[in-house]
Amino acid sequence: MAALLRLPARAFSDLARALTADLRLQRRRLSLLLLSPLHFSRALAHLHSLSLPEKTLLLARLLLRHLHSLLPSLSGTSAAAAHRLRLQDLDAALLLLAMCDAYDSDRPHADWHTRIAEHAIAAALSPAGLGAGGWAVLGRYVDAAAKCRRLFEVVSGEGGKVGVEVAAAAAAVVALPSVECMRRGRECVICKEEMEVGRDVCELPCGHWFHWGCVLGWLRKRNTCPCCRFELPAEDVFFEIGRMWRTLLYMVGRIKWKQSSRRVNLVKQKLKGQLCDAKAQKKVVAEAKVKAEEETSQARFNLLEVWERVGQLECCLAVEHSIVEAR
Ligand SMILES: [Zn+2]
Ligand SMILES: [Zn+2]
Repeated sequence: MAALLRLPARAFSDLARALTADLRLQRRRLSLLLLSPLHFSRALAHLHSLSLPEKTLLLARLLLRHLHSLLPSLSGTSAAAAHRLRLQDLDAALLLLAMCDAYDSDRPHADWHTRIAEHAIAAALSPAGLGAGGWAVLGRYVDAAAKCRRLFEVVSGEGGKVGVEVAAAAAAVVALPSVECMRRGRECVICKEEMEVGRDVCELPCGHWFHWGCVLGWLRKRNTCPCCRFELPAEDVFFEIGRMWRTLLYMVGRIKWKQSSRRVNLVKQKLKGQLCDAKAQKKVVAEAKVKAEEETSQARFNLLEVWERVGQLECCLAVEHSIVEAR
């Protein structure tokens, strides 16, 4: 949420517009389910046909979709495309999420259709539901992102699937760019062979280059860069949720680090300024000292001159005295 507050105004309004369109689609689908008994029973039947792990996965995919919509810069279009839901799955997932939202332990045997309809109407008439601004829409997606994290923690444990290797998402691999190797001496770290000049090679988003044949085999088994462990979008839904949270935490950490390093730089500059002032003052003092010494030696010189004159005078007096005595 803090990262969203730092978005420039234009990026924020673009995001709010995209989220509003997505939310409208979801509301339309849910209204259709509630208004058409045929659609409702079909979606419910689809849900009944799924096992509990499959239902969890479906819910995770819907929540990941929310996370992708909220953080498009982290997911990229390829990751969002890899986890897109078919309409039948989207309807079933929306129904399942609506059931979770409308669940009330005090009314365990109530009819699901009535309960979801009541909950949907109450939500639409709430201040957040009535609010047409970007923040009201954003709030719903932030809420879904929080649900997504809770579900991820419950299913994968606190640490998630860290350290486990999963394949990169096919859509993300297909979207990787091809670049021409222009100079000698570049090595593909997978096969340890040099890349030929003029050959098209694969560039990962982290900037590392590999032979296409080598990297495709690598990404079928794992979603990380062989050089720097940069994570590409993963095919596994829960791993993908974990990857997005890790990237988000890394980004927030980097923003904080940037801010603290900026503060350190400011203090450094201030100290540097004070040091310059002190140096200037020292110079002034040294100049004054030299001047004072010059003046002292000048005064001493003048004194000597006076003494000399006095000496001459004494001499003159002595001569005159002897002349007077001689008379
Ligand atoms: Zn290679
Ligand atoms: Zn890399």
